Amino acid sequence: MLEPRRKERNAQKLTELYPTFAARVARVIAGMEGAGWRPRIQDAWRSPEDQKKAYDAGHSKLLYGFHNVTGPDGRREALAVDLIDDDKPLNSRKPYLLQLAAIAGQEGVTTGIRWDMPVELVAGIDKAIADQNWNAKVKIGWDPTHIQPIGITVQEAKAGKRPT
Ligand SMILES: [Zn+2]
Repeated sequence: MLEPRRKERNAQKLTELYPTFAARVARVIAGMEGAGWRPRIQDAWRSPEDQKKAYDAGHSKLLYGFHNVTGPDGRREALAVDLIDDDKPLNSRKPYLLQLAAIAGQEGVTTGIRWDMPVELVAGIDKAIADQNWNAKVKIGWDPTHIQPIGITVQEAKAGKRPT
């Protein structure tokens, strides 16, 4: 994707997010760009139909998740993005994924890099991030480009709670 198109897409997708979360994601994108990466928001808000497709395809384990959050008036207030490596859109590189997890952590959000991983492998990821060893030979969880808030559950978000 050409650079102007990527930036335009990111700006448009940020409008599908709840504002406090959008601000954090914007800072993650800026941080990744500052580190020389070209992050692209692949998915932000998803309709219930698209979520069903993602669920059926095995890309999500939830039929209602942070991607699906809407306000009482139906406005899109997603609390998740999938932020892929635009230069390797089908297979984001491990150094990208580790650095994304690090920068997300600095901005008070989290990625799926640790999901469903045994504790000892999570420790390896945490050490690579602490050491800023982006080429570490670590195994990563199943949804490492997915970013979501911390301190709030999907059920709370569905009931109307929003992250700061
Ligand atoms: Zn996601």
